[in-house]
Amino acid sequence: MQIRTRFAPSPTGFIHLGNLRSALYPWAFARHNHGDFILRIEDTDVERSTQESVDVILEGMAWLGLDIDEGPIYQMQRIDRYREVIKQMLDRGLAYPCYMSEDELNRLRDLQMANKEKPRYNGLWRPEPGKTLPAIPPDISPVIRFKNPIGGSVIWEDAVKGRIEISNDELDDLVIARPDGTPTYNFCVVVDDLDMKITHVIRGDDHVNNTPRQINILKALGANPPIYAHLPTVLNDQGEKMSKRSGAMSVRDYQKEGYLPEAILNYLARLGWSHGDAEVFTKEQFVAWFDLANLGRSPAQHNPEKLLWLNHHYIQEADPKLLAEAVRPFADERGIDIEQGPNFVQVVSLLKDRANTLIEIAEGAKLFYSPAPALTEAEIAENIPSGIKPVIADLIAAIEQTDASKEAYSAAFKQVLAKHQLKMPALAMPVRYALFATTQTPAIDSVLVVLGKEESLKRLAKVAS
Ligand code: GLU
Repeated sequence: MQIRTRFAPSPTGFIHLGNLRSALYPWAFARHNHGDFILRIEDTDVERSTQESVDVILEGMAWLGLDIDEGPIYQMQRIDRYREVIKQMLDRGLAYPCYMSEDELNRLRDLQMANKEKPRYNGLWRPEPGKTLPAIPPDISPVIRFKNPIGGSVIWEDAVKGRIEISNDELDDLVIARPDGTPTYNFCVVVDDLDMKITHVIRGDDHVNNTPRQINILKALGANPPIYAHLPTVLNDQGEKMSKRSGAMSVRDYQKEGYLPEAILNYLARLGWSHGDAEVFTKEQFVAWFDLANLGRSPAQHNPEKLLWLNHHYIQEADPKLLAEAVRPFADERGIDIEQGPNFVQVVSLLKDRANTLIEIAEGAKLFYSPAPALTEAEIAENIPSGIKPVIADLIAAIEQTDASKEAYSAAFKQVLAKHQLKMPALAMPVRYALFATTQTPAIDSVLVVLGKEESLKRLAKVAS
């Protein structure tokens, strides 16, 4: 059997990490099984669907490297197909027109509520052998209803939740087309899953309630229902359902805040799935390990610190050149001209050890691309004790004679410190200040390497006398 999965987002707004997880798992399942992964855009809610939201979905998936075998397929482009199936179902007696007006439906509901019954359509227009239907009222366009089986129950073995059984008595005859003929949500999903030969539906558990209806329609159409895996919700760090209103960040925000896609992917993979106690793994490992059996059964909770930690990890691990490329847009944004100054790959490599995000690296890089500080007499007096000036002069002499390497600079410092019986900070702090007009810099020997011997000596010379 060729495994086929799909991600079927509704492009109605905000895409947060939880939404993207619903793409990651079916993608990984398809890849693990050498199957196909299909992207279907469920845009039939025309009022709320936007192209902007589709773009965010496509961008987010491309960013994480979730490649698509088929699609994006837009439901709005398949309306004719849905109408065709509705017609077939009417012809085959699987569905029927219902002329009950809104008013009548409301009255029926009120009556049922007053009698403490569950509100449901009463089957008035459902054709049955020997039953006489009411006279068709003029001026009412009918809805089309699916003839749900009577009696028995719908049972499926959910790959996450286990066996689920829903009695058919709970399900009334679902409206599959509105009075203007447009198909309804649950119906489009069924036709699509059938036409697209989806074998595994992996989606959020807010769709569990739709599943028995979808299974009934699939069976009526003669299809074998797919395997369903309903993923528990993702909660935010406060334990509420993740949503824009409860402060979730959009996928784009993570990109803008300097997260690496590797970190997000690793993080999302663990948000509701596990492989032993593995916390850090590559995309390839994730695909090799992914299975439905190890999906979590309880809601996963977003943990921003863990994500930050993973981001730090992937920043450390990154190839220096690729990391520099990833940081570059953030440097550009900050007006840093990386052509004017030290080698950017070296700068990034120096700063990455303490950084949790690409933004932190770009911020740190400012130091190396700002012009040499023009220190005033007062600033020099305040930050570079006059007794240290001869020490700096000795340091200049030592550096002039040594290699331009971290080890050599470190040795030069040691030699000068020993001569003057000083401890490192007594010299390193004034040196930092002389170089950058701040004492907040990475390790001084590395800084000298990155800034370059010539430039460093030029800046030190200005304060040495
Ligand atoms: N469009 C639905 C949503 O965004 C998903 C439907 C499905 O996966 O069956 O929640």
